[in-house]
Amino acid sequence: MTPSAALFDIDTWIFDLDNTLYPPETNFLALIDARITEFVMHETGLDRDAAYQLQRRLLDDHGTTLAGLMGQYGIDPYRFLDEVHDVSHESLKPDPDLRAGLVRLPGRRLVFTNGGAKHAENVLETLNLSDLFDEVFHLEAADLIGKPRPHAYDSLIRTHGVRPKTACFFEDSARNLAPAAELGMTTVLVGPHAADAVGDFISYRTERLPPFLRAVQVRSSSANPTL
Ligand SMILES: [Mg+2]
Repeated sequence: MTPSAALFDIDTWIFDLDNTLYPPETNFLALIDARITEFVMHETGLDRDAAYQLQRRLLDDHGTTLAGLMGQYGIDPYRFLDEVHDVSHESLKPDPDLRAGLVRLPGRRLVFTNGGAKHAENVLETLNLSDLFDEVFHLEAADLIGKPRPHAYDSLIRTHGVRPKTACFFEDSARNLAPAAELGMTTVLVGPHAADAVGDFISYRTERLPPFLRAVQVRSSSANPTL
């Protein structure tokens, strides 16, 4: 367990959405992953195994599977987003501990996701977190160019006037933290794999987000609302 982090200078708290604001054991992202495989099967005529291989390769080469599909197959991104995010939210449950951890953070809270606008809105609603975020920077807002492409970070910073030196970014994907650290943000890797991850672009690691947020030392703020 990471000792409680001292983040007194942070006034902008930026969170990835999928597998960060809910834990991977919900298997929710696996549902979307399976929808992406089906989409690739349908578009390419490949069988499931080959489609899955292609999906992973595009993800590795282009940052998101969608970017690869757009670049190499001319896929309509809006149809892709509609189809792959059309999954049941049954496995997602609001977590009062996470909510309490978020509420105590002084300053702005933003979501920075490679998911589409509708997906982000629906998931935040299901998790009962919508009211806690000032802005949601989704894939459409990033001109459909997601993390870890530098354009996505630059665009987030410009659009929402983020000062990297006083921003902290939480992510389950280590490679998405590297560009944030390069810009000067504090970074937190979240998830069961976090303890074993290497890289000096990772400022803090935590297996689970709620206990980290409950323990983190922040500047006091009289304006900070309570539960
Ligand atoms: Mg994620």
